[in-house]
Parts: sequence; structure tokens; C-alpha cells
Amino acid sequence: AEVSAGADWNGIGTTSDGLRIKILANVGSAKDAKAAAEAGAEGVGLFRTEFCYLAATDEPSVEDQHAAYAAVLAPFHGKPIIVRTLDAGADKPLAFLNPDPEPNPALGVRGIRVSRERADVLERQLAAIVSAAAETGAQVSVMAPMIATVEEAAWFADRAHAAGIARAGVMIEVPAAALVAEEIFSVVEFVSIGTNDLAQYTLAADRQLGAVANLNDPWQPALLRLIGMIGKAAQAANKPAGVCGEAAADPNLASVLVGLGISSLSMNPSAVRRVGAALAKHTEDYYRQVARAALVSHTTADAKATVHAMLS
Ligand code: PEP
Ligand code: MG
Repeated sequence: AEVSAGADWNGIGTTSDGLRIKILANVGSAKDAKAAAEAGAEGVGLFRTEFCYLAATDEPSVEDQHAAYAAVLAPFHGKPIIVRTLDAGADKPLAFLNPDPEPNPALGVRGIRVSRERADVLERQLAAIVSAAAETGAQVSVMAPMIATVEEAAWFADRAHAAGIARAGVMIEVPAAALVAEEIFSVVEFVSIGTNDLAQYTLAADRQLGAVANLNDPWQPALLRLIGMIGKAAQAANKPAGVCGEAAADPNLASVLVGLGISSLSMNPSAVRRVGAALAKHTEDYYRQVARAALVSHTTADAKATVHAMLS
């Protein structure tokens, strides 16, 4: 049965047999962070820092960045928060980092690729994150967007560690990164799967184009198989893999993700209670069975119907 918003949930994400699943929020502003804390999120799984600068014409100073980040971190004193470094480009161009038009921006210089060209901008951002963390007492980790190779992941983790951040992770949102997840785990403390982009790149279907929305669907069994590979690599490495794409906000799909070995889910604040309540209904082993049924479905419609029936 559907779990309604505001359904009973004790605020600590667990399956019915006690497997811990962190229920986190996606935020892009101080307003979102306040809403996330009020919704009962256990922390923040994705702070999209580029949202602070979509209208900026010049690189913000370290002092300005410190103030913007501290305002978002403030409600999460003592709680975990993952700050994503600037994901500039494609659907989120920043004037000071993406000045030149590209023929195919989703496949162009975006995310970590910009950071590697402008390591100076990354270094200043990491300094602002470190000082905002110190001021607010939030347990801050950082992660990089659009990682495709192990070498990129290692490059980022080295810079984060050198800046004084103990926990460095990367987003897995490019199929190449999913395929080498085991090696990526050897150089980072955690990964977080961006299902919005991972669906776009796996199905070769533009996330901004309604005409291909049926392909760009997180219920696609091919996407679920990639997520299952990452979940297995996480368990082998004994390191966490989360999901921070829109998929995590769907209670039935969240149940599948848990069955695939995902240990934290980050979502729009409005989905926190609904997903937290849904996951408390069944055991880890049952979610594994649910996930297996979704993986062998031939269509998204079959996957959705099968999982819906198993969870009702
Ligand atoms: C994603 O790609 O799933 C993700 C969480 O990042 P964004 O939506 O900001 O690209
Ligand atoms: Mg993304």
C-alpha cells in the first residue's frame, strides 16, 4: 500500500530487521536546508553548491563561499553532510567556468572535468568548505561530480585530503565509473550514485528531453543492474554507496535500492518521511528478493508492477 506523507516514522532509517539505511536530503540553499532539518532528515546526502552561483558572473570569493556554505550547514550541527564541489556545465552552466558554448554539453567539459582545468577554483572552494565546516560543527564530507575514471577519483580524493577533509567521495553517474566501482572504492571513502545522470548516460537519453522520458527512467532494468554492481563493490570494499538521484524519493524504488546494497538514500526534503516509513516495513532479505524481481523484468512497466505487488 502507498505510504502517505507524514506517515509514522521514528526518524532513524532502518529495515524492519534493523539494517541501518540513512535517510538524507538533497539541498541547494539555506531555505532547503531548513526544510530538510524540519522534515527530519538525518543529514544531507547532496548539497548542490553550483545552485548558489547559477546567476554569478564572476567566481565568488572564498569569504562569500564560506558565508553561503555556512548558511546551508548551520541546521546540521553534529550531523553528516556531503558537499558536492561545483558541477558546472551541461544543464547547469556557470558563467565564470563555462564561457564557451559546446556542441554537446552533456558530453563536454562539466563537473570534475572543469575542476581539473581550473584546480585553482577547486582549491578555493575546498578552503571555503573547510572553514564553513569548522564554524558550524557539521560533519562535512566532499564529493566530486561526473567522475568517469579511477584516476579522476584519485586526483579529487588527494586534493580533498590535502585540504584537510578526511572523507572524500565521488558521484557515480557515468556508466564507465560504475564498471570500475571496485577500483574507485580503493581510492575514496564513499560513493554516491546520481541516478538522474546515470540513467541519461546509460540509456543515451537526454534528461531534459520529454520525448525520451520513457527511456530515461530509473526503473530501467539496465540501470538497476549497474546499481547492483556498485552495491556489490561497496559491500566487498566495506565502504558505503548511497543514491542521491530522484530515484531515492520513490518509496518502491528506494526498497529496490536497499535490496541492491545501497546504504543511504538522499532525496527532496518532502520525500523523507514517506521513504523512511516505507523502508521500515520489510526485512533486508525481502528487499533483496524485491530487487531480484526488478532486475529480471523486461520493461519498466513490468518492474514497477512486480515491485508494487510485492510491497502491497
Ligand atoms: C544526478 O545526476 O542524479 C544527481 C544527483 O546530480 P544532478 O541531478 O545535480 O546532476
Ligand atoms: Mg548529476
